[in-house]
Amino acid sequence: MARVVYVDNNATTRVADEVVAEMLPYFTELYGNPSSMHEFGGQVEHKIAQSRARVAALIGADPSEIVFTSCGTESDNAAIRGTLESWPDRKGIVTTRVEHPAVRNLCRHLARQGHELVEVPVDRDGRLDMDRLRQAVTENTAIVSVMWANNETGVVFPIEECSAIAHAKGAVFHTDAVQAVGKIPLNMAASTNIDLLSLSGHKLHAPKGIGVLYIRKGTRFAPFVVGGHQESGRRGGTENVPYIVGLGKACELAQANLKAERERVRRLRDRIEAGLLSSVPNSIINGEGASRLPNTASVSFEYVEGEAILLKLSKLGICASSGSACTSGSLEPSHVLRAMGVPFTAAHGSIRFSLSVYNTEEDVDFILAEVPPIIARLREISPFWKKRTAWGGTPSYCR
Ligand code: PLP
Repeated sequence: MARVVYVDNNATTRVADEVVAEMLPYFTELYGNPSSMHEFGGQVEHKIAQSRARVAALIGADPSEIVFTSCGTESDNAAIRGTLESWPDRKGIVTTRVEHPAVRNLCRHLARQGHELVEVPVDRDGRLDMDRLRQAVTENTAIVSVMWANNETGVVFPIEECSAIAHAKGAVFHTDAVQAVGKIPLNMAASTNIDLLSLSGHKLHAPKGIGVLYIRKGTRFAPFVVGGHQESGRRGGTENVPYIVGLGKACELAQANLKAERERVRRLRDRIEAGLLSSVPNSIINGEGASRLPNTASVSFEYVEGEAILLKLSKLGICASSGSACTSGSLEPSHVLRAMGVPFTAAHGSIRFSLSVYNTEEDVDFILAEVPPIIARLREISPFWKKRTAWGGTPSYCR
């Protein structure tokens, strides 16, 4: 196969070889049911306990606070629905304008069913408006759900401060940490106000289809998947043993690599950003002024279509993603960039490069060699670029 430069790690990651190796026996030789009374199943139960401890160690939690789920989306659903069910007298949900659809669409769905929803805005750099958050949370708020790090821009929110605001009004605090876990250090033991946290295996080199909901000890919680006694009655269903084993191993690897990889990946990311800014006129780093994940670069190339850029990159084996989605024939910029008020002309041409432990300096060299001529060629045929030259480039904003 031709060269692949995979820089779409916020979408999903390669499963680490060590993870696959640790999972394999649990498909074949060690296929027992962990709930069985016999020793054959019992050894599987021990392995699940080890995985639970490994996940807990990565986020500074107690193993008893870790509940395995099927994905990040399920964890988000379980957190929000489970809290609303536990606090029937409180009708309010407070979240942000830039959440992943797993939270955003769920909260909008719940609002249509009668819950009161406030989506707190962000500024031009993607930073959360903390005054608006403070105003939004009231004694009627059941849950405040604020993502730890944004999947499109990598912007990191001040989660400790957000969670304290929620607790000051007696609301439960949930964070979707799907993009943060394994990329920046998290420590639940050092925090007193985070009640619920979601994570997803496939963002940190475990397979797709495994997630975790962290539930702080003492948090009121009604199970979302009701069934057997698994996960101490907090999530029914026979455990997905090989994937749980894989997630445990991935968390162990992430913990061992976190410090060194964070700095190495940040240097690669910074090289991409600096290289593109200096070689492509009219390019913008989204969220540049905010605290950000080390692996994510969201770059807007004004007056070109993101999809056209992606197609050209894809032909060269560069796998990235765009900040716009094609809906019913019209290209709508992402809700995240819209919420940030990114100029319309820039939001359309935004590309996300998201790195992982597997990216190298050579990957960055390749990107920096190939992207600038692609943008230049696309601009040559872009009517918007020509108009911008004629009009002197006044951007329209898309709030
Ligand atoms: N939350 C965030 C911030 C994400 O980036 C994603 C996946 O892209 C999810 C939730 C959903 O996770 P999963 O794909 O495991 O359902």
